[in-house]
Amino acid sequence: MPVETSSTNRLPEPSFSLRRRWTEKQAISYLMQQGVENPGVISLAAGLVDPGSLPVEETRQAVRELLADDRRAREVLQYGTTQGAQTLRQQLLGHLARLEGCSVEDLGIDAEQLILTTGSQQFLSLVADALIDPGDICLVAAPTYFVFLGVLNGLNACTIAVDTDENGMDPDALEAQLIRLEADGRLDRVKLIYLVSYYENPTGLCLSAARRERIVEIAKRWSKFHRLYVLEDAAYREMRYDGPVLPSVWGFDGSRESVILAQTFSKSFSPGLRVGYGVLPRDLIAPICDRKGNEDFGSANFNQHLIATVMQRGLYAPHVEKVRDSYRNKRDCMLRAIDTHFAGIEGVTWVHPHGGLYVWMTLPDHMETGFTSPLFRQAANVEGVMYVPGELCYGGEKASRPSHQMRLSFGVEEPSKLDEGTRRLANAVRAVV
Ligand code: PMP
Repeated sequence: MPVETSSTNRLPEPSFSLRRRWTEKQAISYLMQQGVENPGVISLAAGLVDPGSLPVEETRQAVRELLADDRRAREVLQYGTTQGAQTLRQQLLGHLARLEGCSVEDLGIDAEQLILTTGSQQFLSLVADALIDPGDICLVAAPTYFVFLGVLNGLNACTIAVDTDENGMDPDALEAQLIRLEADGRLDRVKLIYLVSYYENPTGLCLSAARRERIVEIAKRWSKFHRLYVLEDAAYREMRYDGPVLPSVWGFDGSRESVILAQTFSKSFSPGLRVGYGVLPRDLIAPICDRKGNEDFGSANFNQHLIATVMQRGLYAPHVEKVRDSYRNKRDCMLRAIDTHFAGIEGVTWVHPHGGLYVWMTLPDHMETGFTSPLFRQAANVEGVMYVPGELCYGGEKASRPSHQMRLSFGVEEPSKLDEGTRRLANAVRAVV
């Protein structure tokens, strides 16, 4: 039978949920699509990792081992648990202790407080889902990780941008916001303080150690109506190329009641495996696991065992070293390229990151960088280079979001393309000055 096309016989439009409306127009999907559909375009936008540094051999070895014996193979090809493979959670205690520079006993948590998720993105989303009702408030660094802002928008949360400087979120500005919210009678709606503690996406900056401690203290002191949580997104923690080793925000939470820690294997090992994890205060274990039970009752069991095998065989730490060397080199290429190609353009500044994947660039105030700006069009359509417009990375009132910044990623392109992409971008900037 032919498909009925007559407009009079058309079925009514679908009726979408409010949640669907709150999640319209995802910038991340647009940017990913542009990258894939336009192979001639150099993407300084994509936050993808460097294909050359992916752990092909390490993964092959682990897969071979997992499938070598039938009984073991059947175990890992079966469903796992909602919380994730016990063997990996147990190992993660050791991994976390090494990162924290203490013994497993001194971590003050057990494997029950660790949950394995589909990337750390799912963990962030589950936390937001378990805590936030429409209209609840999340305080976020200005700027911050735009995909998490999308998650918050999707819950119709109210985001409030807290000022940052070269040391990350400013605790005085955070407290000033809390004082203001209390005066407005809205403190009971404040649920979460979200920050990316290491090599922030998009700025590449780290929260200083002194500020980490103060922010935990502020969260505890302002837990007046209910627990005010800090959600520490440490996605880039292991991607340090130079600069100091910083303690986590989580490490300053002696009682382990206030800070939720999110980490991932996406940057340090492989994003394709989608293995992330979170460390939860005890009161959040059941709420988060219940939500996850509804979503997928467990992330990929096979992949969790694969990572556990990689760690057991001592293949993880040397790989991370290799990855760091490769990105350090790419970061240096990018910074050199910016020095060269932006020479002589007035009023442009950028951050020198000590880790992560991004260089944050600020143009003169009048030079808009958004999707509809002349610069974005010139860059994408004429020069063939993409970046992430900085305004996407701000929460809070639309009118107060700076619109003259951009996030440049040195993650995915090889050094020669980083140079060429930067040259094209500088051309685009010169063309619209
Ligand atoms: N947090 C930050 C700051 C990120 O940049 C990313 C990935 N771009 C994530 C979390 C999520 O990564 P994944 O789900 O792959 O762990």
